Amino acid sequence: SDCAGNIRMKVTIFGTGYVGLVTGACLAEMGNHVLCVDVDADKVARLDRGEIPIYEPGLEPMVKRNHAAGRLEFTTDAAAGVAHGHVVFIAVGTPPDEDGSADLRYVLAVAKTIGQAMSGYTVVVNKSTVPVGTADRVRAAIAAELAARGSQATFDVVSNPEFLKEGDAVNDCMRPDRIIIGSSSERAVQLLKTLYAPFNRNHERIVLMDERSAELTKYAANAMLATKISFMNEIANIAERVGADVELVRQGIGADPRIGYHFIYPGAGYGGSCFPKDVQALERTARAHGYEARLLGAVEAVNADQKRKLFELIARHFDGALKGKTVALWGLAFKPNTDDMREASSRRLMEDLWNAGAAVRAYDPEARAETRRIYGERADLMLCDEPYQALQGADVLAVVTEWKIFRSPDFARIREALRTPALFDGRNLYDPEAVEQAGIAYYGIGRGRSL
Ligand code: NAD
Repeated sequence: SDCAGNIRMKVTIFGTGYVGLVTGACLAEMGNHVLCVDVDADKVARLDRGEIPIYEPGLEPMVKRNHAAGRLEFTTDAAAGVAHGHVVFIAVGTPPDEDGSADLRYVLAVAKTIGQAMSGYTVVVNKSTVPVGTADRVRAAIAAELAARGSQATFDVVSNPEFLKEGDAVNDCMRPDRIIIGSSSERAVQLLKTLYAPFNRNHERIVLMDERSAELTKYAANAMLATKISFMNEIANIAERVGADVELVRQGIGADPRIGYHFIYPGAGYGGSCFPKDVQALERTARAHGYEARLLGAVEAVNADQKRKLFELIARHFDGALKGKTVALWGLAFKPNTDDMREASSRRLMEDLWNAGAAVRAYDPEARAETRRIYGERADLMLCDEPYQALQGADVLAVVTEWKIFRSPDFARIREALRTPALFDGRNLYDPEAVEQAGIAYYGIGRGRSL
């Protein structure tokens, strides 16, 4: 243990994506010896050279510092990973299967690997977002491998879902709102309580429960957040039809502490790697157990429509004549402070514009390389290094991601640069009157003037 009385542990993390890498860095920061395992040899080599494959505020210095100190190491050697950790985290992806349910192949592949290589008592901690019952499947997969080679090694499987937010992941990991430990093993719980003690000093954050409740907690949290967004988008769609401004309505309802101001922003729809897939997966889980989750289905349907909203407003502005038009886009990432483009609303908008014969000139502070990786070089996609450069030769401007640098733009410059000055504000960042006074037509989400 160190001077502060923290007990150092040997920890292994399978998967060095947003969750695995951030968790690994934070656990190393607290003095633990962390070995990160990934099947992606290129990613491991880059990490070993100190290159961080994702953009996440504060992550790079933390990874470098702990790597240099020898507390954070990277390998593709799964057996070495299993041998290293007393606690072994599973933080691999759980993408949607063809039918929308969670694809567990990566999680179960790691479980198998653990069973093949494990010797002493090991606590296997599942951090990936997985359907209810997965802890049992992981346990069975490990047990089968142990039995196959006649091993007497003992282990526990714990469900410890992750709640970090991309764009603020390091902060969330260092100061979690809560730490959910789902386990029926007293020994495993004690070990994890010790591991998490440095993150649990200020007040009690650990919530103990059984594995199934822990697994459902993660889906329930994401489904609730997605519901708040779709709810506000539904109100926005009503507001624009009845001539009300949803931004005033938002402030009006947020004042009620039972509702609150958080996470009730209408906009161009939610994206990212979690909300879309988790809402779908929970719906599939419910259906598999004989329950039709009507609310979740509606949350998805409202969001799918909302992702088309900016395109519809732009198409209506041009009376459907989009061929040959150029649309400037500010913001590509699915939300600010990340380079993640998974399920981003910008993708739906760009693809709709391209299909209609329009071209895109886009700026995003971090997601340009990722956009290029996804779409490649194409004549109707120009990625710009600076926001106002994206306006050159464009007809109109659409703001898709609410990065801080877009919040107080130079409207005079926007008006001068655009051929037919119009601003499509997909995140309701601007005061419609201020934009119109600057000589730019304004279109927002649910602001009583869009239809
Ligand atoms: P990611 O796609 O960024 O990273 C997953 C990593 O796992 C990849 O680097 C991949 O190469 C690696 N991997 C796959 N199979 C492997 C194996 N057999 N052994 C070792 N490594 C392997 O994923 P992510 O965004 O970090 O998400 C991981 C899980 O956490 C998912 O279940 C996700 O739903 C959940 N989650 C994500 C977030 C988020 O904001 N991204 C937040 C909370 C929970």
